Amino acid sequence: MREFVYSAQPARVIFGSGSFGRLQDEVQRLGMTRVLVLSTPGKMRFAEHAAALLGALCADIFAGAVMHTPVAVTDEAMRIVALKNVDGIVSIGGGSTIGLGKAIALRSDLPQIVVPTTYAGSEVTPIIGETKDGLKTTQTTLKVLPEVVIYDVDLTLGLPAALSVTSGFNAIAHAVEALYAKDGNPIIDIMAAEGARAIANSLPQIVGDPSNREARSDAQYGGWLCGTCLGSVGMSLHHKLCHTLAGTFNLPHAETHTIVLPHALQYNAPAVPGAVTALARVFGKPDPARALYDLAGVLGAPRALRDLGMPENGIDRATDLALSNAYWNPRPLEREAVRACIAAAWAGDLPQ
Ligand code: NAD
Repeated sequence: MREFVYSAQPARVIFGSGSFGRLQDEVQRLGMTRVLVLSTPGKMRFAEHAAALLGALCADIFAGAVMHTPVAVTDEAMRIVALKNVDGIVSIGGGSTIGLGKAIALRSDLPQIVVPTTYAGSEVTPIIGETKDGLKTTQTTLKVLPEVVIYDVDLTLGLPAALSVTSGFNAIAHAVEALYAKDGNPIIDIMAAEGARAIANSLPQIVGDPSNREARSDAQYGGWLCGTCLGSVGMSLHHKLCHTLAGTFNLPHAETHTIVLPHALQYNAPAVPGAVTALARVFGKPDPARALYDLAGVLGAPRALRDLGMPENGIDRATDLALSNAYWNPRPLEREAVRACIAAAWAGDLPQ
């Protein structure tokens, strides 16, 4: 018999080609009159496009977002918020830009409109990770949940194929761990299966033709669903490992997720037969961990942490850290098995 608690996260989602053009309407709907537009330095043109759409409603652009939301960058943006008396945030970009918008909202309670351009899913989560003195700390608070999300496929057409793949795997990881979450529920299970399916089916088409709008739209739809899973239920071993590995060895976020996912799923598989059955259906293969490993290979994604620069002697350190803070996982954390999982991910071996 089913028993669950389901809490939906409030968000207004506008999905479709050309929806970026509705930015001014959405800004006015929220009553914003002095907007700060955020982007990474490399995607300044996205921010300039937004500023052009907003006209006099745009107070300034801050194109200084970087990976892992360093507090020093947030402090810089907060100075502009104060100086220009900003009353709303528009973030255009991937998880790095969205993270900066959330960090500003955390400190100011300003409303956020987010226009995601990758598939990582941060736009629909109440989670924020920030870095100070090389240490990344994560917290969950509704203060950082964006009010409006605008998904416009047209802004994703230039996302390089390699980044699309790793960002898509990052999203699938949210779905995989949602399917065996301690606080899982039937609605999130449906979103997780549908989200993982949409991304797994679209990525080969995107790699074949990065300008395939249908496939891009499917991946974006999947990214939304998978992000919603991340924002709704607790994650376990996979996300803990990635957080630890990326933080300790300064590894890139999405690539780390791509490499670790098959191994973390393989570790948990014996304890989560229901999730394995659901994922086997999603991927059309009996062994979902192997299916993910093979998919990464076919799509040309990295499969070994050593190729990202992690030293071999880091395997033991990562094992210690992965076991150090108690957290829930469907399979108890067994030192030798966790070490073998990390070692296989380091070497790029088949999940074992
Ligand atoms: P990212 O935001 O760092 O972007 C990666 C690169 O791609 C950047 O150089 C960016 O400018 C470029 N880019 C983004 N969109 C593009 C596009 N459409 N075309 C061309 N280039 C584009 O990458 P990400 O993987 O989206 O985000 C990773 C960060 O997000 C990490 O810090 C991670 O911790 C965080 N994250 C947070 C959550 C959460 O819920 N809080 C969820 C997922 C990820």
